[in-house]
Amino acid sequence: MDTVTVSNSNRLEYLNDPSPQTLGRSPLEWLERLNGPTVVRVAGRDRSRTRAMATLNHGNEPSGFFALHRWLLEQRTPEVNMLFLLGGVYPAKIPPVLTQRQLPGGRDLNRCFKEPFEGDEGAIAHALLEELRDANPECLLDVHNTSGTGPAFAVTITNDAAHQALTSLFTDRLIMTDLRLGALMEYSEQEVPTVTIECGGAQDDHAHELAYEGLVRYTSRADVLSLEKADWDVAVLRNPIRVELAPEATIEYRLEPTGLADLTLPPDIEHRNFGVVSPDEPLGWVGKKGLSILNAISHNRTENVTQVLRVKDGQVYPAQAIKAFMITTNPAIAKSDCLFYAVKATGDPLFES
Ligand SMILES: [Zn+2]
Repeated sequence: MDTVTVSNSNRLEYLNDPSPQTLGRSPLEWLERLNGPTVVRVAGRDRSRTRAMATLNHGNEPSGFFALHRWLLEQRTPEVNMLFLLGGVYPAKIPPVLTQRQLPGGRDLNRCFKEPFEGDEGAIAHALLEELRDANPECLLDVHNTSGTGPAFAVTITNDAAHQALTSLFTDRLIMTDLRLGALMEYSEQEVPTVTIECGGAQDDHAHELAYEGLVRYTSRADVLSLEKADWDVAVLRNPIRVELAPEATIEYRLEPTGLADLTLPPDIEHRNFGVVSPDEPLGWVGKKGLSILNAISHNRTENVTQVLRVKDGQVYPAQAIKAFMITTNPAIAKSDCLFYAVKATGDPLFES
């Protein structure tokens, strides 16, 4: 069975059990053939159950898409029915392909999975949620890449055995957040265990490989929701704070400060990802403005940054042992998003709400 149908009512395209001919030889060939947000359904051995996986919600995060193409080409029969959701086909197709997170002037699709579903991205998010409701999956993954390099991790709004078991198909780190942004992972609130998987960097072959291996585990096991069958012990990091750079501040990545930037970080600071940094280990240097150029944000509230970081002789140290992650060495992301996330070395929040 190999059918393509377009539904005008909800602007999604459907591929049922796509053949190698439909898929093309490479993921790029397949992407060329996709016209818009696409739903792929593959019949499983047990047709009474369904598992769902979304990917390409961000058009520049291809690991899940590459993994799906490879897995579909192998024409495997999954243990249960599979529902795959490819939401960000439009931004992914803009040349050079797989470089745009969202359409120019468009909204971030992964902020649109909530009322009022405004605009084109809201309509796509709404249509994808309808698919999920119809399919009633036993669980849902949303597969992404991080902007820098670095190890894989999972993100969830719920931390229980099922969410840890799903995480363990891909990684041993789970970040639990109480923030609600309209991300697809908030589908967890519908009593469907849902985990976002961040596979590592978008350009990283390890990330693509991990996405594929995780997908094989996800589709081939009779049970993916029991912790006793987990691949790894999962470390849970709760409610990280974001450390942000003030809008007017300047940053440089250098081995030594030039004295010109408000903040200087070493170029290899990404190696600190998920490691414990003790209070006597320097993270970088600040200029004359000291720590006033940094903000610590938890739950959309500004916290006292001096409880996270301290300065001695122009060098920045953790105020207490911390675990930092999603550390960026991209100045544009450092300016527009955040420098890094942090929790206590134990994985507990730095600030209790
Ligand atoms: Zn993403």
